[in-house]
Amino acid sequence: MNGFVNVFESPYYEKVQDVDFQRAIVLRRLLRLYMKYNIYVNVQRSKLTTWDLVLICPNGHWNVVAKDEVEKYVTVDKSGKVVGIKEDVVKRERCRICGLPVKPYVYHPPDFVEPIVRKLEKSVEDLRQALIAYLEAWRHPLYMYWLKHVKGVVPLGASAILTSIEISKAPKLSKLYRFTGFHVIGVCPKCGLVMLKNYSPNIHQPEKRTYKYCPRCGAQLVGKFPSKKLYAIGFFNMFKVKYYYACTRCPTYVFTEDEVRKCPVCGAEMVKKIEALKLDYDPIYKTALLTCVKNAVARVGGKYKELYNKFKQEDPKDAHIRTAKIMLAHGWQLWNLFKFNRIEVPVTNLSKYIPPMWDVEPKRVIPEEILKRLEKEKDKKILIPL
Ligand SMILES: [Zn+2]
Ligand SMILES: [Zn+2]
Ligand SMILES: [Zn+2]
Repeated sequence: MNGFVNVFESPYYEKVQDVDFQRAIVLRRLLRLYMKYNIYVNVQRSKLTTWDLVLICPNGHWNVVAKDEVEKYVTVDKSGKVVGIKEDVVKRERCRICGLPVKPYVYHPPDFVEPIVRKLEKSVEDLRQALIAYLEAWRHPLYMYWLKHVKGVVPLGASAILTSIEISKAPKLSKLYRFTGFHVIGVCPKCGLVMLKNYSPNIHQPEKRTYKYCPRCGAQLVGKFPSKKLYAIGFFNMFKVKYYYACTRCPTYVFTEDEVRKCPVCGAEMVKKIEALKLDYDPIYKTALLTCVKNAVARVGGKYKELYNKFKQEDPKDAHIRTAKIMLAHGWQLWNLFKFNRIEVPVTNLSKYIPPMWDVEPKRVIPEEILKRLEKEKDKKILIPL
């Protein structure tokens, strides 16, 4: 299979819409199954290796403390009793999943658990193999002409990109970001206001419910990447509060212990809450893509690794998120090109635009027609190489 088939000439392309839609659903299910099962097995495995201390909340969630952390901060005697817990573990007083207060317990796994976990690990591996086989069989243009030729993209990352783009049918890149949890939320550092929607880093138009400045106190909002941890314990710690107020109509929250009656954005009633914020995106794609970037792209990758390193120099904290966002954007752009024969290039910040990248010579990978179009865009100085 040396000569690549031109997607526009292949009989496959005629049926691209319905076939891809069906396959995306199957791949999506496989990916979800694999991710959820893998996370479950990882938790079981960490319970085996770091059994000294677990923090348990009233909902029964286990917050396992890493072994090196435990040794640093906790002293356990021979009978398993916690003799001394230093401040840092006690400080982590809220559940990472639901945000409710946790209590420390000592856990001793019975011996028969270990072989069961080993068996579970094997099942996860089987699932991973099934995912790879399905991905290869699909022969999706984005995979065949792009992802397969990018160093460090493992099947997990490729599946996350393919399924999220197909399912959301995203007409806009921002919609794709919101669906996969790569959007940015607005946080007021001064008064504790958190808006999951309506934040814009550049535009302030309160009449259209677009805010750059806090509608409550006027301070400039800070953009944050949403995460499970941020929603569960991050805001409580950030503002040092035990509860917060939530709008009954729109996704606006105020993390304060002063009473807030009306929503600063929509004017609806606010209610007092103590449990974690609900996730407003599907975390599976995000986790899969970030795992791929952290474990493979940042380590063995080619051009995307260079990009990751560049981001890392600017800010080590979110380099992997920024790299994953770029990859998602490239997938979306190329999908538009393959499917609708058009190139969508962001209008703002054109000078900072980074075009899709390959680790093998694109000429061998992209059909002639697409290559010509890309060259044309390059002439217009829209596609600026790194
Ligand atoms: Zn919990
Ligand atoms: Zn504010
Ligand atoms: Zn509201």
